[in-house]
Amino acid sequence: MRCVVCGSEMVETRTDLPFKVGPSSIVIIKGLPVHSCTRCQEFALDDPVMEKVDKILGSVDESMELEVVHFAA
Ligand SMILES: [Zn+2]
Repeated sequence: MRCVVCGSEMVETRTDLPFKVGPSSIVIIKGLPVHSCTRCQEFALDDPVMEKVDKILGSVDESMELEVVHFAA
């Protein structure tokens, strides 16, 4: 897989990413498997991972300001 921004090689890694789910609500998903660019800050998620992220974000309480969820592979 190549980076869409700079064309460099992307490597599989795990990282923690914040997602905004409401006006003042942020969910941090830990241990998320991503493809990360070796040169710039770009990253990409696989479709099955993205679907799980959608499910996680859909199930959180949006009245919380900050929630930390561990991504279960
Ligand atoms: Zn890049």
